[in-house]
Amino acid sequence: MKCDLDQFRKIKTPFYWYDLGLLNQTLAVVKKESQRYGYHVHYAVKANANERILKTIRSYGFGADCVSGNEVLASLNAGFNPNELVFAGVGKSDDEIKIGLTNNIYCFNVESIPELEIINEFAAAASKIASVALRINPNVNASTHHYITTGLEENKFGINMWEMEDVLKALEALPNIKLIGLHFHIGSQITDLQAFKGLCIRVNEIQQWFFAHHIIVDHINVGGGLGVNYTDPEKELMPDFATYFQVFHDLLEVRPKQTVHFELGRALVAQCGSLISKVLYIKKGVKTNFAIVDAGMTELIRPALYQAVHKIENLTSSLPEAKYDVVGPICESSDFFAKALMLPETKRGDLLSIRSAGAYGEVMSSEYNLRTKAVAYYSE
Ligand SMILES: *Cc1c(COP(=O)(O)O)cnc(C)c1O
Repeated sequence: MKCDLDQFRKIKTPFYWYDLGLLNQTLAVVKKESQRYGYHVHYAVKANANERILKTIRSYGFGADCVSGNEVLASLNAGFNPNELVFAGVGKSDDEIKIGLTNNIYCFNVESIPELEIINEFAAAASKIASVALRINPNVNASTHHYITTGLEENKFGINMWEMEDVLKALEALPNIKLIGLHFHIGSQITDLQAFKGLCIRVNEIQQWFFAHHIIVDHINVGGGLGVNYTDPEKELMPDFATYFQVFHDLLEVRPKQTVHFELGRALVAQCGSLISKVLYIKKGVKTNFAIVDAGMTELIRPALYQAVHKIENLTSSLPEAKYDVVGPICESSDFFAKALMLPETKRGDLLSIRSAGAYGEVMSSEYNLRTKAVAYYSE
């Protein structure tokens, strides 16, 4: 992580800091390791829709994975090719479906029969054929290292296999829909590759089922979800993409001419971003002291929302360590970044770097408490 302290001291805090050098290195590795097998990578725009980041990712030739009409428009604006754009989401509005149709996107990832019917209706009205992939709930547990095939049907996402006969029947009556793919996404921040092995095995079974129904689709989309190292980013500035893609190459059964697609978000952008914040006050607490900083859940909501862990560094102190709760200024008890964290003795005016904030950071920021939006800066 490149960091220029003299420069940091001059910038109004809090701010996001993106290391574009690391982003470029990461993208180069993803490109090389995916191309080895002819795989298509669509960047999951929801992880970070910052225009400069989008343009950088686009420059490597990746497609985009969008979950809203505005993400479709932002991707097109950033230069992504509509032919490489997929549009997922359990609740696409009428306007959003029309945006996809108007812009001739590659594929709608569809999650229910009613959605298929509405897309068919709008496609017919526009005299178009909409290409769709069925998002299937594969019933694979993303958090375990066993090949588990039970338990996730309560999820709102995807179509369950027991509904699939009905889906095929519905498709017969929808002339403006073309089934081109099967889509899966089992979860996020997955660091145990066994979960992806389980997914491959399940996808093979599901493909067999479709084959038995005389259907071979053009593509298989295995989603995203590859995790990053939040506790020790320096040790792993990028995930092991080579092994990740190799798992699919080794285990996924691909039919002749079938293409394989991925939707990576976090794995591409998490490590290149940091949130830089200034310490406002040190306040004495009962067990530990509070380091009250000028960034809060408004700039990075992951700790408050998912009890997520981010590494925090004091960039300006090298004193002996003491224990702190690092908290923000927002009027919510969940507005903290770390509890009982050992940091070099910290004083008012010190700069803290909250690491691995490139994914689901800036894009989830809000103006709650009427906060001013933090600005993003970049190092080449
Ligand atoms: C969120 C999401 C992704 C990206 O997830 P990451 O964990 O950031 O890789 C991919 N596909 C779909 C359908 C998603 O909802």
